[in-house]
Amino acid sequence: MKYYIHVFGCAMNVADAERISGAYSHKGWEKTECIEQADEIIIMTCMIRQSAEDRIGGLIKNIKTSSRIIITGCMAGMAVRDNTGKMLTRLKRKYPRVSEFLPIEDVGFSTKPIRTDKTHALVPISNGCNNYCSYCVVPFARGKEISLPYNDIISECKELVNNGYTKVTLVGQNVNSYGADLVSNKKPVYVKHLGKMRIPTLFPHLLDDICHIKGLKQLDFLSSNPWDFSDELINVIAKNSNICRLIHLPFQSGDATVLKRMNRWYTPKEYLQLIEKMRKKIPDVQFSTDIIVGFPGETNRQFEHTVDLCKKVGFLKAYISMYSDRPMTAAHKTMADNVPYGEKKRRWDMLDELINKTNLRKGTYPLYE
Ligand code: SAH
Ligand code: SF4
Repeated sequence: MKYYIHVFGCAMNVADAERISGAYSHKGWEKTECIEQADEIIIMTCMIRQSAEDRIGGLIKNIKTSSRIIITGCMAGMAVRDNTGKMLTRLKRKYPRVSEFLPIEDVGFSTKPIRTDKTHALVPISNGCNNYCSYCVVPFARGKEISLPYNDIISECKELVNNGYTKVTLVGQNVNSYGADLVSNKKPVYVKHLGKMRIPTLFPHLLDDICHIKGLKQLDFLSSNPWDFSDELINVIAKNSNICRLIHLPFQSGDATVLKRMNRWYTPKEYLQLIEKMRKKIPDVQFSTDIIVGFPGETNRQFEHTVDLCKKVGFLKAYISMYSDRPMTAAHKTMADNVPYGEKKRRWDMLDELINKTNLRKGTYPLYE
């Protein structure tokens, strides 16, 4: 029997697809790159923006064979977490060809993955998110943040290095909040960091332990958030040169009011102070980021604050998104998606020119994909 797997979305989805491949291979199935030859077609979905959802619909529509179609990833996750059952009913009606909606938790996190890359491995360390940024479906699609067992992660990394892997990327929705759930069952001690009460995390220790595995040449992580970027974490990066010096640190907006309405409780000033602190302690550090343009109510002046912040930091790369209204989110329920498409596009183009196109011309852009 043969299976075909199509991945939409982020590094986490790529890692999840590698575990799904592992599960199929364990059953004796063979992977095919040809969709027409597959007995089962697995679609690893992304729901972060409407455009991602539209692409999934397009793929399903184009499947001409009678193979079983299985939807997994964020679309399945959202459907099973909607207690009203309405989303699942709507999806079943919209995609009658789909046989199964399979939440990724049902695949399990201990399934041994089959990796396509033989030197660079993606290693998931957590799943889900507790932050509830007002625009984001991730907490609804992936549920509460769960950290995978510490020793399992260390063993997996050691095994990878023994098998010839030289680079590891730790993946999760918020890698640097790793372990907050493991310690919080006891009596959690909160610290205030960038406007939010946070539980000190185990991520600095995990990073420190992994980067000392003999033979590991490069270690990086995706995605991290400003709230859990503690001094302890900065120190671990500073003293270990095999931890990648390009840090991905999404800021989303450079305007204090917009950030608050996004439910991101740092101010632009605090974000810049964090960047400055990192630059002092890690002299060769560089940054990439995520930005949303056209968030509900974002004025031109507020957008200009985002431009100012970008100029101050000098990012090497930015993943820029036009705001997309997503079901279940607080922004969907309480805010009107009122910045016209043309204006979102103008803002997108402006930042793309300022950061990505300029770096491309300078030749600094391709450092990281
Ligand atoms: N956990 C990471 C981001 C994960 S989602 C963080 O907090 O930074 C990846 C990116 O998708 C986000 O950083 C954001 O820029 C973008 N994104 C999420 N929801 C979006 C939406 N509704 N519209 C447009 N972009 C969105
Ligand atoms: Fe969580 Fe990141 Fe989404 Fe915020 S943007 S809810 S931190 S995944």
